[in-house]
Amino acid sequence: MSVEAIRSLAEGTLMKFGADETNAKAVADVVTMAERDGCVSHGLFRLPGYVATLKSGKVNGKAKPTVTKLAGAVVQVNGHNSFAPTALEAGRPALIEAAKTCGIAVMPLIGVHHFAALWTELEPICEAGLAAFACTSYKPSVIPAGGKKALFGTNPIAFGWPRPGKSPMIFDMATAVMARGEVGLAARDGHTLPEGVGVDADGNPTTDPNEILKGALMTFGGYKGSSLSMMVELLAGAMVGESFSFEAAARDNNDGGPPQGGEFLMAIDPTLVRGNDGWNDHAEGFFDKIYEQDGTRLPGDRRISNRAKHDKEGVEVSQIILDKISAL
Ligand code: NDP
Repeated sequence: MSVEAIRSLAEGTLMKFGADETNAKAVADVVTMAERDGCVSHGLFRLPGYVATLKSGKVNGKAKPTVTKLAGAVVQVNGHNSFAPTALEAGRPALIEAAKTCGIAVMPLIGVHHFAALWTELEPICEAGLAAFACTSYKPSVIPAGGKKALFGTNPIAFGWPRPGKSPMIFDMATAVMARGEVGLAARDGHTLPEGVGVDADGNPTTDPNEILKGALMTFGGYKGSSLSMMVELLAGAMVGESFSFEAAARDNNDGGPPQGGEFLMAIDPTLVRGNDGWNDHAEGFFDKIYEQDGTRLPGDRRISNRAKHDKEGVEVSQIILDKISAL
C-alpha cells in the first residue's frame, strides 16, 4: 500500500466510527508514520483497538482538548478523553514556544488515551531545533524488581536530539524487558525464553512463555529498569495529576483499547541552555565517533532507512490486519 493509502484507510475508518476530522487525522498521522517507518506494532495493527474505544464511548472522537499555561514553562493539555495525538497536536506549538523562551518547558497531558509510539510525538519537536523527552504509563503488566505482582505498565521512555538538516536521533523504548506480543510468539512456536523475562501467576521466575502470559513481565536491566519504570509512573501519574497504571486499570472498561491516563513531555532548547549554537557540531562529532565503530548505528537509523524505501515503494501490510479492518 502507498503511505497515502494507509493514511486514508486509517482516517476513513476512524471517521466511520464517529471521530471528527481533527481527531481522526491526528491518530491517522501516527498510525501512518509507524507503518512508513516499519514500526508495525503501532501501525494499522492498532486500528481495531482505537475503534473499540470509540465504539464503547471510552474515547470521545470529537473531543476538543484545552491548552492552559499553568506557568511560563508549563503548558498543560487536557484531552477531555481524546486520543493522545489529538491533545499533542493542540499543545505542541505552545510547548515549542515556551521552550524557546525559557530554555526548557514541560507539557503535562491529562485526560488522554495513549496507544501510539512515542517517537512520532518527539519528531516534530526535535525538528523545531529542540531536544525532547516523553514517557507514559499504561495498565500493569510488569513487576517491580524483587516483587511478584504486576504494578508497572510497559512504560516507554523516549529521548530525541535535533540534527538540523537531518532526521533527529530518537530512541524510544519500553522499560519492560520484552513486549507481551513477543512472549506470545515464543509460546506459539514452543520456544523457552531467557531467564529474567518474566514470572508465572504466583510471581515465581520462569522461562516458559505460557506461564509468563498468565503472570507478568520484568523490567529490562533488573532493578535499574525497575527504577526507570517507577520514574515513568511518577512523571506521567503523580507529577501531571493523572493515574498510575494500577489506577488506570481499575477504572478501565477493558474494551481492547488504551485506558485513560497521562503523559509527560519536556522540550529543551540547546542553544539557550549552552549559550551558543555550537551544540550541533559538537554532537555530530560525537555521533561520528559512534559510527566509527563497526557494528554500531544510532537509534532511529532503522526507521529512517525504512522511511526512504517505503515512501518510494509503498509498504507491505499484513493481509490479516487488512481483513480485521475490513471486518470492522
Ligand atoms: P525496541 O526494543 O524495538 O527499540 C528500542 C529503541 O532502540 C529504538 O529507538 C530502536 O531504534 C533502538 N535500537 C534497536 N536496536 C538498536 C541498535 N542495534 N543500536 C542502536 N539502537 C537500537 O522498542 P520497544 O519494543 O522497547 O518499543 C517499541 C515501541 O512501543 C516504542 O515506540 C514505544 O513508544 C512503544 N510503546 C508504547 C506504549 C504505550 O503505552 N503507548 C507502551 C510500550 C511501548 P530503531 O527504531 O531504529 O530500531
